[in-house]
Amino acid sequence: MDHFAYRDGELHAEDVPVARIAAEVGTPFFCYSTATLRRHYSVFSDALAGVDATICYAVKANANLAVIRTLAQLGAGADVVSGGELERALTAGIAPEHVVFSGVGKSRNELTLALDARIGQFNIESAEELELLSKLAAAADVTARVAVRVNPDVDAETHKKISTGRHKDKFGIPWPEARDVYARGAALPGIEIIGVAVHIGSQITTLKPFETAFGRIVDIVGRLRADGHDIRRLDLGGGLGVPYESETPPSPAEYGEMVRKVTLGVGCELVFEPGRVIVGNAGVLVSRVLYVKNSAGRTFTVLDAAMNDLLRPSLYNARHAILPAREPAADAESLPMDIVGPICESGDVFARDRPMPPLVTDDLLVIRTAGAYGAVMSSNYNGRPLAAEVLVNGDVFEIVRRHQTTAEMLGLERIPSWLGGFDADRERGAA
Ligand SMILES: *Cc1c(COP(=O)(O)O)cnc(C)c1O
Repeated sequence: MDHFAYRDGELHAEDVPVARIAAEVGTPFFCYSTATLRRHYSVFSDALAGVDATICYAVKANANLAVIRTLAQLGAGADVVSGGELERALTAGIAPEHVVFSGVGKSRNELTLALDARIGQFNIESAEELELLSKLAAAADVTARVAVRVNPDVDAETHKKISTGRHKDKFGIPWPEARDVYARGAALPGIEIIGVAVHIGSQITTLKPFETAFGRIVDIVGRLRADGHDIRRLDLGGGLGVPYESETPPSPAEYGEMVRKVTLGVGCELVFEPGRVIVGNAGVLVSRVLYVKNSAGRTFTVLDAAMNDLLRPSLYNARHAILPAREPAADAESLPMDIVGPICESGDVFARDRPMPPLVTDDLLVIRTAGAYGAVMSSNYNGRPLAAEVLVNGDVFEIVRRHQTTAEMLGLERIPSWLGGFDADRERGAA
């Protein structure tokens, strides 16, 4: 359930008409709903009531400081995958001890940053990373609390680019190699082994792969304890899917029920790293129709939003529901159209043959379920500035990231000495 709905013929984000935000902020922009973020977080945490659980929101799904802070106020920790995300989480007010650092390639600088911040847990993905972490921790005279990410060799039955739990995926360490890494970790200075971590993928729409993976991990906890390790944390990752169009993923309650069953008696604190299920349907991408182009018997509706703003349709062939901001009449005819962006790539398409009511230039279209893996994946491709982000809270809204300016885009660049040697922003100032 989310808080984007038609009222009096106008799509509202909570109590604010989307068209009003568009008029003030300018399109395209991402619009997030506080009430939806809160609701999704509480549905997830309620599903784990009575379980010794910590919810570490996966920052990579939506890294806006305002979104992270909204969740931090509800008690969320953070799962981060880079030094940049770590700094975001801390800036937004997440306590360092509630931060988990995941990822297959943490650099020396990133590990140092996380050690300095005294984060709660490092999820180690290779023996080499463990050795480096030990060296850095020992040199700084601190102890890193470590879980090893085990690759359970389970197919998450999701899009291949977001499946992470098979042996052919780059993530985690397969058993029995993981067993050797634990043994090594127990002997290394600066390392305290605390748990096991697993994450098999994203947008998972059935419980079966989770159940299989978690069952294998619970079994591994027993074996590690038999080896003498004090395993007290079980990090079950994220991955629960959301409905984009016609998907029917399990509810958090069903997921929680399964987790209870599989982990019964394991005697560990459980850690969860949900991303998409918290923020996916809490955000939309609002754009304006530039042109409606009829050619070769097709209708192309060209928006001012593009694949640089929302990459998912191009990257994953993802289907997003798309609504006009003005509610179509109940008897409005519906025409199949291609809804496309202005970028010079044929893949810059949000939907093909999508039945929509007739549209004209300047109409607002709202692409749903854009709260996760939307703004965070955006780029400057085609010289396009990053879109703004807006957070609605009841009957008010504020810009939580303004539109990027051209000066900001050019400001990082410079002309080399042999071509004149100047900073791009200085030249613009002089022009
Ligand atoms: C991406 C990721 C998550 C979040 O996945 P969602 O599908 O958004 O819930 C959690 N943990 C790790 C390690 C990840 O890489």
